[in-house]
Amino acid sequence: MTEWFVEQRERLFIFSHNFPFILFLSAAALKNNLPNEILTDVPSSDVQAWTSADAQALYYVDAWGQPYFSVNELGNMGIKPVYKSNVCMDLHKLVEELRDKENLSFPVVIRFMDLLRSRVIELNEAFRAAIQEAGYKNVYQGVYPIKVNQMHEVVEEILEAGHPYNFGLECGSKSELIATLPYLEKDGMLLICNGYKDATMLHLMLTFQKIGKKVLPVVEKYSEFKLILQIADTLKIQPQFGIRVRLSSTGIGQWATSSGDQSKFGVTISELLDIVEALKERQQEEALKLVHFHLGSQISDIKFLKNAIKETARVYAKLHQQGMKGVEYMDVGGGLGVNYEAGTIDPLNGINYGFEEYVNCVVYGIMEVCDYENVPHPIIVSESGRAITAHHSVLVTEAIGSTQRPELNPEFELYPTDHDVLKELWKTLQTLRATPTLRLNQLLEVYHDTLELRQQSDTLFTFGYLDLEQKAQTERLYWTICKEINDRVHAAKSEWLPQELDDLDDHLVDQYLCDFSLFQSMLDYWSIDQRFPIMPIHRLNEEPTRRATLVDLTCDSDGKIRNFICPDYDKHFLEVHPLREPTPYYLGFFLMGAYQDILGDTHNLFGRVNEVHVYADEEEPNDYFVEKVIRGATVEEMLATVQYFPNQLHKRMQTLLQDKVAQGLLRPKKAKELLDLYAGFFKDYSYFSSHNV
Ligand code: PLP
Repeated sequence: MTEWFVEQRERLFIFSHNFPFILFLSAAALKNNLPNEILTDVPSSDVQAWTSADAQALYYVDAWGQPYFSVNELGNMGIKPVYKSNVCMDLHKLVEELRDKENLSFPVVIRFMDLLRSRVIELNEAFRAAIQEAGYKNVYQGVYPIKVNQMHEVVEEILEAGHPYNFGLECGSKSELIATLPYLEKDGMLLICNGYKDATMLHLMLTFQKIGKKVLPVVEKYSEFKLILQIADTLKIQPQFGIRVRLSSTGIGQWATSSGDQSKFGVTISELLDIVEALKERQQEEALKLVHFHLGSQISDIKFLKNAIKETARVYAKLHQQGMKGVEYMDVGGGLGVNYEAGTIDPLNGINYGFEEYVNCVVYGIMEVCDYENVPHPIIVSESGRAITAHHSVLVTEAIGSTQRPELNPEFELYPTDHDVLKELWKTLQTLRATPTLRLNQLLEVYHDTLELRQQSDTLFTFGYLDLEQKAQTERLYWTICKEINDRVHAAKSEWLPQELDDLDDHLVDQYLCDFSLFQSMLDYWSIDQRFPIMPIHRLNEEPTRRATLVDLTCDSDGKIRNFICPDYDKHFLEVHPLREPTPYYLGFFLMGAYQDILGDTHNLFGRVNEVHVYADEEEPNDYFVEKVIRGATVEEMLATVQYFPNQLHKRMQTLLQDKVAQGLLRPKKAKELLDLYAGFFKDYSYFSSHNV
């Protein structure tokens, strides 16, 4: 400890013993003693009331939510899901209705089905506009890759919205093929079949070609091409297929290896030449229909897409020039990204382009190469999944409790009998309060001293020299000092901070226990550190005065959210409101519609969550109606996934209780009641129940 600090502290200690009242003069008391003309300068009178607009800015809603999400004048989250309409639903009113009328427990996934439609229409209209403006001489015909969200209502909604645009589907496995084939209502719709395919799948695909359906297997590896030819010969047809080109261009970030030399997908240029030769030999030049690439999901930087488009368009053009006149589609794959955290430089969470720039990049990029090479413009196919589905689904969870760092009671007094370690901590706090001009390195030193005292108190307790009460007081003092150091550090607004001071925020924040499982509902946060916008859905016209990390119900220490969206720095807390039990406090997890629904696992046997499908309707009192409620997984359903069944468990429990009855430890009536209580849990939601016991 530096001399000046010891000196200050000693002086203050003597001083405070003689004039303790000076140290405890409150701000209010000071204010009361000030003359009126000075009172107007007291900063608290300048403080503006917190508004919905402040919340909108604090949670970066404009950055990730435009034009669909905003905070309304009631301080609730508002959602405008309908294309070119201003109808705005109140998410909090909806949540209250689900709780009160539908008797739904949380967590709940709310699907705004109109938002799915909006995204499909916007994508198609953007392509239409770009094609018209560029004078591109062909059309856009998109497909939806169902792996992003296979929920059949989601797929049906997308297809319905995409009907006028001939929007089709993409599948990547046997199950997805079987799910998608019956949806090919119109012969003109495309079903693009990516992923590895066995002989049975290829046989089914080619048979559907025979009856006039546009089912296109995309050759991922050369051996698949051989298999296609064999099966086509057995069926006595000329096959139709696409090829995925293994590009030199790569993407960036988490999914970058979906293309490039290291990719597990696609055929090389030399294999492509072998395919061309083989087709020419068989005089089946018309069989090759489509050239495909996929750079990887969430392309963060448009320049990577530009390169890939040029490279693939060149392949398309050269194939034409080699006599492959049947190639009529160029498929640019998925990858159209979502701004989970607009403005960030982190490739996982942000993108540097919008719908329009993406579409222009595709249309103009292909056109430029084709015009140069003098080949016809192909039909443009894209496989956008994330960009279509992410926005439509919101996970709503309830914060069911909080833990906060203990703080010193303002009435705290030191007794002569208190342990020296307590006295030292108390002196440190007083000195800190009395020296408001400490620099960062001095604050760091105070922090180190405090830490040392805390460690001493832990050791003293372990060896029996501190009782529980004294230990609790040292903890309270420790956290109060840390908090005050942290407040000073924030006030200093320094661009650079020593690591330990920077980490203080993390140590001081509250923990809000939320009724959900990270592993079921937000797997990408855990597996690849993807951040999602999270914020309260109500009380947004009230300043959130607490900072918290969120912890889930699982018994896994990884079941915790401590990275929150913030374009400027790594943010390890969320601003939240103090809980006001018994009034529920709801948090919304936004942009959850892509991948999360389907990737989720059942860690700790937390299952699928309750789900509702909501449509906008201006004729209804709150501008919406709940079309469907799908109850989440019950305890019984979750147990069945690991081969426990109610009958067996019930029988075992019965035997166990009968033993206790035989031992005279339980009355038979009580045993019966206990058995009924136990059996009642089978039908319970696997998350917390909101009903009382
Ligand atoms: N197409 C293919 C071949 C894919 O592998 C994927 C996913 O990675 C997609 C489309 C969907 O991509 P996104 O959700 O980024 O649009």
